[in-house]
Amino acid sequence: MTDKIPVKHIEPGTQKLEVYGGDSVQSGVTKSVALYAARNKIYVKKIKGFFQRIRRLSLWMLMILYFSICWISVNGQQLVHFDLPNRKFHLYGITFWPQDFVLLALALIICAFGLFFITTLFGRVWCGYTCPQTAWTFIFMWIEEKVEGSRNQRMKLDKSGNSFDKIRKKTTKHALWILVAFGTGLTFVGYFYPIRELVPDLLAFENVGGWTYFWIGFFTVATYLNAGWVREQVCLYMCPYARFQSVMFDSDTLIVSYDKDRGDPRGSRKRQVDHKEQGLGDCVDCGMCVQVCPTGIDIRDGLQYECIGCALCIDACDSVMEKMHYDPGLISYTTEMRLRGKISHILRSKSIAYAVVLVLMIGAFSAMIWTRVPLQIDVIKDRGGLYQMTGMGQIENSYELKIMNMSDQDHVFNVSVSGLDGLSITTPTQVAVSSGEIYSLPTSVEVDPRKMETSNYTIEFKVEAEDDSTLVNVSESRFLGQPE
Ligand code: SF4
Ligand code: SF4
Repeated sequence: MTDKIPVKHIEPGTQKLEVYGGDSVQSGVTKSVALYAARNKIYVKKIKGFFQRIRRLSLWMLMILYFSICWISVNGQQLVHFDLPNRKFHLYGITFWPQDFVLLALALIICAFGLFFITTLFGRVWCGYTCPQTAWTFIFMWIEEKVEGSRNQRMKLDKSGNSFDKIRKKTTKHALWILVAFGTGLTFVGYFYPIRELVPDLLAFENVGGWTYFWIGFFTVATYLNAGWVREQVCLYMCPYARFQSVMFDSDTLIVSYDKDRGDPRGSRKRQVDHKEQGLGDCVDCGMCVQVCPTGIDIRDGLQYECIGCALCIDACDSVMEKMHYDPGLISYTTEMRLRGKISHILRSKSIAYAVVLVLMIGAFSAMIWTRVPLQIDVIKDRGGLYQMTGMGQIENSYELKIMNMSDQDHVFNVSVSGLDGLSITTPTQVAVSSGEIYSLPTSVEVDPRKMETSNYTIEFKVEAEDDSTLVNVSESRFLGQPE
């Protein structure tokens, strides 16, 4: 990948960086490189095409999902709700507690590996089609175009002096951007504070604390700035994924590329004339691929880290090729191998390794979710003494049972013990535990010493909900005593 470093003169006394060699500076030559490049506003031209239909569909779908999921409730429970005050997460009908941290960690690792796997195969498809930065920038650009018009109209408007029409358009655009940004901030907070309560509470100025206002404000401002003003700068300078993903690329990874052999030498020509006879390639040098690029690069300069793989340039160039009656695909999704005239392989050691790890982890995660019981028991043996003799001559051991009800309902639980003939619990064996509560139950267990053959037994405590036989869990402990 070519790292394009903006080279410019630095005034004495300003910060400077000495760069020796590299991709975009001549090897062995010392250059002063500015650490900050001023942003040149990019006016993206609207383009239609096959990939843009897919991209539009995917980005709109993601936006609709983001704004709607928090409004969906099942059995009175918001489908996705991160209930921080009560330290539980409701995800698609399952309630996760801090005790489920392993599941959360595994889910995050699966997502990371999924991203590595997809990147190895399809390059920056995440950036181009699904990244939130891309999605919100897309919506903001869509609003911009609806209000201010096409690329040329927007450029003309920005160059023109202040007028009523300009102020009206700019005010409308920013008001709509702020509205979308506010909706984004409100929705984001609505995943933490039930949105069906949040909206009425906000309207009534009731129950809403200062932090809620702060986070809504923070995400409103962040969205407005990121999608309205900073845009591609986030991808170029702030996104860590954009930087480290190149290590996942290999010569079989899908990239957007210009076919230099076919396109060069570039130049304008008349449609009727055979350009081959003029010594020209298929590129008519119209600049359409640059005008549609949201990061403002020229893909004909080669693969660059700024390229987010959105395929806008492919659609733009294909439309030009169609007009010229040339074959499509001068810019296309391809691989380095194909560009070298070799066969590209989807199945290769790196992608197979990622796939195997991914399948194993998804299998383990599914099994853990499938077998997960929202009831946890911890048995702590009393450390005060190994055992006691009761007045009736029985051997008694004491424990503390911690019963955690991780289900969404309150339940009454029955406690029983097994592992040794004649073993019985002498303390209460029925306990009501509310949803989310951890109940500590002191428990004493006794047995006739004549039933004991050794001094040490493994016993098992079983806790079962009275109204739900599937809500049951067991935990082991030791029973100690002196056989008679
Ligand atoms: S070069 Fe093409 S694929 Fe890459 S960001 Fe620009 S328009 Fe998108
Ligand atoms: S859109 Fe196609 S024909 Fe036009 S400049 Fe780009 S590569 Fe050349």
